[in-house]
Amino acid sequence: MRRFALVPTILLSLTAAAPALSMPHTDAALLEQIRQDVSAERIEQDIRTLVGFGTRHTLSETESDTRGIGAARRWVYEEFKRISDACDGCLEVYYQSGFVEGEKRIPERTEVVNVIAVQRGAVDPGRYVIMSGDIDSRVSDVMDYTSDSPGANDNASGLAGALEAARVLSKHKFAGSVVYAGLSGEEQGLFGGKIMAAAAQKDGWRITGVLNNDMIGNIEGINGVINNTTARVFMEGTRMNESADEARMRRFTGGEVDSPSRNLGRYVHKIADNHIPNLDVMMIYRLDRFGRGGHHRPFNDLGYPGVRIMETNENYNRQHQDLRTENGIRYGDVIEGVNLDYAAKLTSLNALTMAALSKAPAPPTKVSIEGAVSPNTTLKWQAADKREKNLLAGYKIYWRLTDESTWTHSRYVGNVDEYTLENIVIDNYFFGVASVSKDGFESPVVFPGPAGSFYPGESAAK
Ligand SMILES: [Zn+2]
Repeated sequence: MRRFALVPTILLSLTAAAPALSMPHTDAALLEQIRQDVSAERIEQDIRTLVGFGTRHTLSETESDTRGIGAARRWVYEEFKRISDACDGCLEVYYQSGFVEGEKRIPERTEVVNVIAVQRGAVDPGRYVIMSGDIDSRVSDVMDYTSDSPGANDNASGLAGALEAARVLSKHKFAGSVVYAGLSGEEQGLFGGKIMAAAAQKDGWRITGVLNNDMIGNIEGINGVINNTTARVFMEGTRMNESADEARMRRFTGGEVDSPSRNLGRYVHKIADNHIPNLDVMMIYRLDRFGRGGHHRPFNDLGYPGVRIMETNENYNRQHQDLRTENGIRYGDVIEGVNLDYAAKLTSLNALTMAALSKAPAPPTKVSIEGAVSPNTTLKWQAADKREKNLLAGYKIYWRLTDESTWTHSRYVGNVDEYTLENIVIDNYFFGVASVSKDGFESPVVFPGPAGSFYPGESAAK
């Protein structure tokens, strides 16, 4: 026994003498496998099937098996079931719904129905990453629920992406849970997202990120530009539900540009840089496009991290338009306007992001920082809990100049719960910490304090 007791002391002195700890290598082969598995052909098939329901308007009929939102959502449910059958029932597939009435765009009592598929995590099943697309579609008049409304790009593309991500990721096992969501009622006022976010809150989901995919297939902008090498990620700044006290503290310690949504967006950006050829992510420091909406917002409203992933160049002749030709211009959201290889590329961006997040340990909690009037900066956080312990290799500190958009400096510091950066002055940088798994997958970077915390209620910053 005494012999073993000596071992930690020896290790400690070796560590102290070493110049730097080496971080485990990321399992890049796994990510490359997932990227190659994403199929543009299957995405095309799904978009064609969805377009084939004629209209998927939220107020359209629900009885028919071939036309309307009812037929469409039953098909989505069945498709998730088929995917689940192929992985020995690895998905929990269910409908989730709520009744809406008395709203401008839903005046009569209407059941808004989402279809959800959960791939349960093996280590920490109570934390989630979510990829969403929308089932519903619309034409010029948002209340027109009978005209043909193909919604091929808006938003069959996002939903087809979520289905394809489920096919590809369900071949693998993850530590955290992965959710694929088909949401409804988006065009009528983000109702499906509100229903899902409320349910997640009620069930105590710890959400590491929502990836809302809304229009991921158009590469021809309204101004004629053609570009299939960039994507946009919209990510809000300070939390919607930040308290007055938290806002006051943020004024003195920072965090305006380091909400969990922003650090989720930076994570997506880095995945593209490191693992997706010919794709650069344009990070946009906005909740969404100017004055417009999307299904990540209801999650943001409750304090959950969430971003919108979409094409860079929109074509307004192909969105929310009656099918018609006018002055030689073809209007309408038809599949000819969807670039399937590009939709597959953005789907792989989602799939890799979810794989990496779900292989990684949970983001560190209770992150705090100190170092005012000293040459050094010290970060502290809560050690990984029992669930995460076997998964975790250690932690990585990040920092950057305050006007930089991405993390530029980092140091792997091993399995400790506090670390002092010597001769790095707290005033001059923004700091954060990520957790790292034994197979080299990192959580998003967590900025200290409630402004940066991923799981609301778990932060206790100084
Ligand atoms: Zn739309």
